Amino acid sequence: MSFKVVRTRVAPSPTGIAHVGTLYIALFNYAFAKQNNGQFIVRSEDTDRSRYVEGAEELVLSALKWAGITPDEDVEKGGPYGPYRQSERLKIYQRYAQKLVAAGQAYYCFVTPEELRQMREEQIKAGRPPKYDGRYRDYPPEEAKKRIDKGESHVIRLKVPSGKTKWHDLIRGEVEIDHQQIDDQVLIKSDGYPTYHLAVVVDDHLMKISHIIRGEEWISSTPKHIILYDLFGWEKPQFAHMPLLRNRDKSKLSKRKNDVSISSYQQQGILPEALINYLMLLGWSHPQKKEVISLLEFVNSFTFDRMQKTGPVFDTEKLRWLNGKYIREIISTDDLIKRLHKFISKDFPTELTSQVLPLIRERLFLLPEFDELTDFFYQDIQIDKDLLIKKADAQLVSSQIETTIKKLEAISNWSSESIEMEIRNLQAENNWQKSQFFMMLRLAVTGKKQTPPLFETMAVIGQTTVLKRLQQAKSLII
Ligand code: GLU
Repeated sequence: MSFKVVRTRVAPSPTGIAHVGTLYIALFNYAFAKQNNGQFIVRSEDTDRSRYVEGAEELVLSALKWAGITPDEDVEKGGPYGPYRQSERLKIYQRYAQKLVAAGQAYYCFVTPEELRQMREEQIKAGRPPKYDGRYRDYPPEEAKKRIDKGESHVIRLKVPSGKTKWHDLIRGEVEIDHQQIDDQVLIKSDGYPTYHLAVVVDDHLMKISHIIRGEEWISSTPKHIILYDLFGWEKPQFAHMPLLRNRDKSKLSKRKNDVSISSYQQQGILPEALINYLMLLGWSHPQKKEVISLLEFVNSFTFDRMQKTGPVFDTEKLRWLNGKYIREIISTDDLIKRLHKFISKDFPTELTSQVLPLIRERLFLLPEFDELTDFFYQDIQIDKDLLIKKADAQLVSSQIETTIKKLEAISNWSSESIEMEIRNLQAENNWQKSQFFMMLRLAVTGKKQTPPLFETMAVIGQTTVLKRLQQAKSLII
């Protein structure tokens, strides 16, 4: 390979949201570039003006940065091969298209959309695959020029030579596509804008992209691109076509069936480290089968030969699980508190955070769940009377609460140890059924059936509040 530097890129079209699929492809491009001390570029492919959405470019860039995938060159920071926005490079594409026309490798075509439609209808009727029939391939250039001078609408098409294109795909191995399957591609549209095929090849060449790592859906476009590289006499990059992310039902990952916008994962409190770690494991596996992998480790251990070809399922449950693992085991407490900040309710007493966090951390999978898991630490609770007396009669529960109040009132050093000692003694002395008594207390003190360990929880809630809640429970019963 004679590219001196490894340069990879993603080329998202700013058509709306920042998609997890873009982050997925970006991650692998970034890792491969960094592993080889190369550069990772983000180019904006904004030539399809009908799908252009204002602000989408910024969304993608900020999502990539949030995930730690920092480009070396992009529309915001520029770079030596800019501009990085295709709509600012229109003259460049025109120049290269004209070169092909002059060499007889591309031609002007005046077929109207209506004629194209008719052509396709007739082909379908005749049982043939719809295809542009090449009717302007050999149209005399002087005639074409006259019509253009008169202002007639036209496109420039590539004269796709007959034959086959073969390449060695870094993920798929040998791929061969017969040109019979390929139309004479439009290179310049009637509005003067280039199509994706021309722009992508010109830009990848001028930006010295050495490896094109992109989604499987572009495989059928690759021969068109390779033909162009050959016609221009340019060195070809290597290609790697990544497996397509899928919904649970194996269809292509879609908005209808899955959350696909990165911002929705941000709002759900997914940590960027967890999201990219999850994406690494979609279609790739660590040589030692590790599941928790940092970006740096991924950069160092990624190889194409560990990529699978079939499309992995994007499983939000697994992502949630991995996020929980990051919350419990990977992120430091201080860091976690910082990250929780914007998800915690404004009413939550900040000084409680470091006391409460260790108690609920085991059960925290998504950052916004913190609120639900901790509301009883500082908010008034609702006690369900029926639940309270479900496992014993009201008389007994009432006397249990009364005795407990007396014992707890007498504690002078309120701590989980002293609470535990008193409660356990009480249970043993009275021979109360353990599970009934402890569950009843839990309900009375927190309003919930499931909480962190009871004595620690009571210690954090505080003596006054615990006693108040026990009184409240008792008054419900009688
Ligand atoms: N603009 C294309 C996209 O939206 C780029 C495809 C490619 O990487 O060549 O994904």
